[in-house]
Amino acid sequence: MKKYIAIDGPAGAGKSTVARKLAQKLGYLYLDTGALYRAVTLYALQHGIDLGDLSQIRDMLSRITISLETNQGLQVFLNGEEVTKTIRSPQVDRSVSKVAEIKMVRDFLRETQRKIALSRPSVVEGRDIGTVILPEADLKIFLTANPETRAHRRWLELREKGDCVDYKSVLKNILERDTIDSSRAHAPLRKANDAIVIDTSFLTIEEVINKIYALAING
Ligand code: C5P
Repeated sequence: MKKYIAIDGPAGAGKSTVARKLAQKLGYLYLDTGALYRAVTLYALQHGIDLGDLSQIRDMLSRITISLETNQGLQVFLNGEEVTKTIRSPQVDRSVSKVAEIKMVRDFLRETQRKIALSRPSVVEGRDIGTVILPEADLKIFLTANPETRAHRRWLELREKGDCVDYKSVLKNILERDTIDSSRAHAPLRKANDAIVIDTSFLTIEEVINKIYALAING
């Protein structure tokens, strides 16, 4: 039985749903690391932080406490206030990859992520879990899907929440985030050498979960 499962991949590949349901099925802790970057981004937007000014970033990080609760789905708290929904807004979507590029932000969140992930058997999803955050994970999965499928999924998700964005701008945002996430200097989105690739373009969520579940219990 695998104890620490890392799931990486680009936006819209299905990581969050798959990781959350897989964690439930295994009785493991679920950690959505993107939620942490999103919470920092929300704070930066709310306080007009200049992302090019490292002293402002340092000061911002000293004023931020993020906590996660997984009792009813995943709840995210920023300095005690629940931000679970706000961190998924199109405004945060547009800025999050620029915040996640900053080394000081990544260093700040690294230990938090490791502490939560190693506290008990876990399914951890993000961009650099198999490579940087949990290189010791005993099962590493890299989920992919073609950009159009990923944008369509994200567009449906936003529409269900009542955010009226058009499909083309969602696709543009996905492609921009892919570029920034994969080309940044620190911990870029990259498949770990020992990760298993699963293309989810033509698979249902259940099929993806079943594939990973089988790998988790048989290994
Ligand atoms: O997974 P999600 O789309 O919520 O992540 C939002 C953004 O946070 C990503 O586009 C990426 O820029 C950043 N991120 C990251 N490393 C992670 C998780 C997310 O850089 N482990």
